[in-house]
Amino acid sequence: MALGEVAVVAKVGKGLFIGGKWVDAVGGKTFSVEDPSTRSPLCEVADASIEDALAALDASHGAFEAWAATPPRYRAEIIRRAYEIIMARSEELALIMTLEMGKPLAEARGEVAYAADFFRWFAEEAVRIDGRFYVAPDGNSRVLTMKQPVGVAYMITPWNFPLAMATRKMGPALAAGATVVLKPAEQTPLCSLALASILEEAGLPAGVVNIITTSDPAGVSEALMNDDRLRKVSFTGSTEVGKILAERAGRRLLRVSMELGGNAPFIVFDDADIDLAVGQAMIAKMRNMGEACTSANRFLVDSKIASEFSEKLADRMSHLNVGRGTEADTNVGPLIDQAAIDKVTSLVSDAVANGAAILTGGRANLDDGYFFEPTVIVGTSSNSAISKNEIFGPVASVVTFNDEAEAIDLANGTEYGLVAYVFTNNLSRGLRVIEALKTGMVGLNQGLVSNAAAPFGGVKDSGFGREGGFEGIEEYLDLKYVAINHRA
Ligand code: ADP
Repeated sequence: MALGEVAVVAKVGKGLFIGGKWVDAVGGKTFSVEDPSTRSPLCEVADASIEDALAALDASHGAFEAWAATPPRYRAEIIRRAYEIIMARSEELALIMTLEMGKPLAEARGEVAYAADFFRWFAEEAVRIDGRFYVAPDGNSRVLTMKQPVGVAYMITPWNFPLAMATRKMGPALAAGATVVLKPAEQTPLCSLALASILEEAGLPAGVVNIITTSDPAGVSEALMNDDRLRKVSFTGSTEVGKILAERAGRRLLRVSMELGGNAPFIVFDDADIDLAVGQAMIAKMRNMGEACTSANRFLVDSKIASEFSEKLADRMSHLNVGRGTEADTNVGPLIDQAAIDKVTSLVSDAVANGAAILTGGRANLDDGYFFEPTVIVGTSSNSAISKNEIFGPVASVVTFNDEAEAIDLANGTEYGLVAYVFTNNLSRGLRVIEALKTGMVGLNQGLVSNAAAPFGGVKDSGFGREGGFEGIEEYLDLKYVAINHRA
C-alpha cells in the first residue's frame, strides 16, 4: 500500500461505535478487511457478538425519546453539517471506498457526492414532516393526522455502495427523529465507520447512531430482530437474504423496507438513437463494474439494429482499462471477491455452451485481484442462466426481439422488478412500454436513475419501500389519526 493509503485507513475508527464511544468487541475479537484489487489485508475491525449488538440497541433505544423530541430544524442542521463534512472530505472518503471495495477513484468520488446528497435532501425534508386536518364527511367530527418517528431502526447495508447505502437509510431516519443501529457488510465496513466520526463531528448526540461491524450478520440480526425495542428493519442486499429477514420481521410485525436484487432489461427499439443508447448502456452496465442492483442485466435489442448496437458496445467495452481503482487511468476495478468471479465466469461459460458468442472479453484475470474483462456476448437465449440471474459483473448480454409485444414480454419475464431502461424516440411507444413494465423505476433514454430526490425501489422480488425522494422519510414515520369531537 502507498503511504497515503496507509494513512487514510489508519485514521478510520476500527471499533464498534456505541453510545457515542468507540469500544472493542467483547473478548477483543476482530476480523480482517481485504483490498479486492490486491487480495491483501487492509486492516482489522471489531467483530461484534450478539452481546455487543444488544448494547448498540440499548444505546439507540436510550437515545430515542430525546432525539424524537428535538426540533426538526435542530435535526436538519446536524444532517446538513454532516453533508458538508462529507463533501469537504470527499478525497479521503473516496480513497477509503476504493481501497475496501475496488471501484475506480473517479466513481468513488461520484458515490461520495451521491451519498452526501441524501443528507442534503433529508436535511431539507426534516422540516417538512406534515399531517392533515379536515372535516369528516358527516360534518360531525374532525380528522387530524400526525406523523411520529418509528423508533429504533436497524439498517443492514451491502458492500457495493458502502457509503451511499448508509446515508440513504440514515438520512431519512435521522430527519424523521428515529434512532439507528447500522450494520455494514463485512467486506466494506470502513466507509460506515468513517461516517460515524463525521456524524459525531456534526454534533449528533451520543446513541442516536450506533455502528456495529460483525462477521456474524445472521446471528446478530436475529438477536436484534427478536428484541422488543426494535421497531423497523431496512435492508439492502440479496433477495435470498431479504426473504429470510422479511419472514423474521413478520414474526414481530416490524416495519420493513427491502431493496433487493434486480434483473434490469435495457430495451433498445429500432427507432432509438443508437449512439445515445450505446453511451447510456456503458453507464447502465459498467457503473460500479456492473455490481449494482440497477445494472443492465439483459440488453433486449430489436433484431434490425442488434448487430450495430452490439458492435458499437463491444468497441467501447474493449477500450476500457481494467486495473486497481487507485490508478488514474483505470476505468474498471476488481470484483468484490472470488465468489463474484466464480459466478460471472460460470454464467458466461453457460451462455456460450448454449449458443451465445463472445464479441469481446470473457475471461477472469486473477494475477493480482479479482478482475474480470469487460465482456459483450451476443445471441444469448432468454432462457439461459445469464438472462435469469443477476450477473453483478462487467458482462453485457444481448438478446434480440422482433416486435414491441415480444420486448415487453421478455422484459417482464423475470421474478425481479427493480428498474428497466427504454430507448426510443417515439413518445407514444415510450409511454406505452413504460406503463406495461412491471418495475418500480424506469429510465427513458437514460441509463442511470439513482437520484437522492427520487423514490428508489422495486416491486416483486426486488422488494418494497422507497428510499430517497419525498417518499423516503415515510419509511421512518408512523401515522397517527385522531378523531376529534369538535362539539364536545
Ligand atoms: P451479497 O451476496 O451481495 O453479499 P447479501 O444479501 O449476502 O448480499 O449481503 C448484504 C448484507 O446482508 C450484508 O450486510 C450482509 O452482512 C448481510 N447479511 C448476509 N446474510 C445475512 C443474514 N442471514 N441475516 C442478516 N443479514 C445478512
